[in-house]
Amino acid sequence: MSIRKVVKYGEPSLRQPSKEVHKVSQKIKNLVQDLIDTMYSQNGVGLAAPQIGENVRVFVIDVSTGNEPLNPIVFINPKIIKKSGACVSHEGCLSFPEAYTDVRRYANVMIKALDSNGRSFVMEAKEGSLLARAIQHEFDHLDGVLFVDHSINRFEAEEVLKKYNLPPLQIEKLLDEPELAKEIDELKAKEVEQK
Ligand code: ZN
Repeated sequence: MSIRKVVKYGEPSLRQPSKEVHKVSQKIKNLVQDLIDTMYSQNGVGLAAPQIGENVRVFVIDVSTGNEPLNPIVFINPKIIKKSGACVSHEGCLSFPEAYTDVRRYANVMIKALDSNGRSFVMEAKEGSLLARAIQHEFDHLDGVLFVDHSINRFEAEEVLKKYNLPPLQIEKLLDEPELAKEIDELKAKEVEQK
């Protein structure tokens, strides 16, 4: 299909909640292919439909590396049905060129979705794996939530955004996440002890 323009942080479509897909029509299949093509063209690990200006509940992920064969996974109308544990994730986003910062994520997630043939599947990703973190990052896009909203250190995030000429953090969008924060603090304390 075609490589689409990725919208950048500051575009309203990134903050809009996306609509459910009612039928996995040819139009949706074309959108999926555009997402895959665009993700690969930018060497991304994932891409969500709002990032190409389409506010529908679809995203794609490919966590294959190096010489592994490409393995795009398509998620339509996803629901996160279980989540547990906490981890620190150093993340970026194709809508935030070059900007990376540490964010709070669950370590384990279970997700249910439809594939590109409209068939339901369940997937589990554990232990803070790239897949587990990518699922949460892309899923958030469908609700207009962005990775910087999960920032562990908002001052550091501010600096990074400024450095790459991106709009500032939207303070009212920052997520509190006291349980994740507590667990991450405990993990960090353990690491210090072990040193
Ligand atoms: Zn993103």
